[in-house]
Amino acid sequence: MADQKFIKKLSEFGEGFKHHHEDYAVSDISKIRETGGVWELGGLSFHFPEHFGFCYGVDKAIDMVFETCGRFEGARIYLTDQLIHNPYINGKLKEKGVLYLKRDARNLLVCDGLRSGDKVVVSAFGTDFRDIENLKARGVTIVDSTCGAIINVWKRVEGYAKNGFITVMHGKRNHEETRATVSQAVKEGGSYLTIENVREGRELASVILGRMCEEDFLKKYPEAAPQGFSFDRTACKMGMANQTTMLKGESLEIQEILRGAFREAFGEEATRGRFRSFDTICGATQDRQDALRKLLGKDLDLALVVGGFNSSNTSHLAEIALGRLPFYHIEGADDILSAGEIRARDPRIGRAAVMKDWFSPTTRRIGITSGASTPDVTLLEIIRKIVSLRSPQ
Ligand code: SF4
Repeated sequence: MADQKFIKKLSEFGEGFKHHHEDYAVSDISKIRETGGVWELGGLSFHFPEHFGFCYGVDKAIDMVFETCGRFEGARIYLTDQLIHNPYINGKLKEKGVLYLKRDARNLLVCDGLRSGDKVVVSAFGTDFRDIENLKARGVTIVDSTCGAIINVWKRVEGYAKNGFITVMHGKRNHEETRATVSQAVKEGGSYLTIENVREGRELASVILGRMCEEDFLKKYPEAAPQGFSFDRTACKMGMANQTTMLKGESLEIQEILRGAFREAFGEEATRGRFRSFDTICGATQDRQDALRKLLGKDLDLALVVGGFNSSNTSHLAEIALGRLPFYHIEGADDILSAGEIRARDPRIGRAAVMKDWFSPTTRRIGITSGASTPDVTLLEIIRKIVSLRSPQ
C-alpha cells in the first residue's frame, strides 16, 4: 500500500475501506428515495422524483477522497479540481486541509511544487492525459476517482482519433470533463471541435455544407479546437461525443443537424463512412432528467432544484423546470433568506440573484429534486428551513 502509486478503485486501498458517502445521506430522505414519494411535514408536502441526488460516480469520488484523507493523515493531499461541483462537500474537504493544484494558461496542472509522498486525487470529471503523465513523473501517489461513465466516453473518443475522425464534442468548453475528454483525442494523435449548443452545431453544419469557411468558424470559436488545428470539410470525418451531463435532446438534435449536413453535402453512402455518433449521456443524468419531467407533471405550487450553481447536471435540471411553474435553483438552506426572499440562479441569465415573494402563505405542495453532486443532508436542511418559515420555532 505504501508504495502504491496509482489507485483507481476503493478496494485498492486494501482492508477496511469505508463508504464515506453514506455520511452525507440521512435516513428520512433515503426512505423517500425507496418509494419515490411524498413527505408531509409542518403542514407542507414535499414531493420527490424517482431519482435525485448522488449518482454512483459521485459516491465513488467521495469515498476515494475521504479514504485518502483517512489513510494518509499527515501527507499533503491535493485535488486536481473541485472533486464535484458541490459547495457542501468541497467545504468538508477544505476543513480536512485538502489543497488544490493550480492550472496554467493551457489549463494543465502546475506540478512544480509536488514531491514524492504527496497524494493527488483526480476529480470525478477526470483530467487531461498530460496531467497524469506529469503527476507520474513527480512520483506522487495518484488516486483516480474519474467516473467510469466518463472513461467509457474517452474510449469512444480514442477510437475516433485512431480511425482519423475529428471528435465533435457537445459540452461546455470550460468544464473539466470536456477538457479531459477532448484531450483523449489528442493523446491518440487526433483532434477535436467543441460545440456548446444547437446554434453552434448549425454553424458547423454550414461549414460542412460549404456555406461558411472552416477558418471563419475556427476564428469565431478560437477555444473550440486545439491551437493550430485546421480541417478540410471535403475530406474530413467527424465523430460525435458529449459531456455526460448535457441535455440528451440537445445532443441528439446536434447529431441530426450534422448528419443531415453530411448527407446533403456528400450523399448517404459517404455519410456512413464519414460521420459517426454515439449517445454518451450517462444513465444517472438521464434518470434524473426523466424523473424531474414526471414530477413536474404533478399539481405543485413551486419546485426547488438543489445543487451547485456551477454543476452542469443541476443546471440542466433547472432548464427542464423553467417555465413550467414557479421554480428556484438553490445551492443550500443558506439561500433561503426569508419567506419573502430567496437567492436563486436564473438559468436564462446564468447568474444568481435575490428573488422576492417566492413562498406565499398558500404554498403547500413543493416539488424538490437535487443534482448528482448534492448530498441528502442538504435537502434535509432546506426542508427544515422551509418548515420553520411556515411555523417559526
Ligand atoms: S453524473 Fe454520470 S458521469 Fe457524472 S459522475 Fe455521475 S454517473 Fe458519472
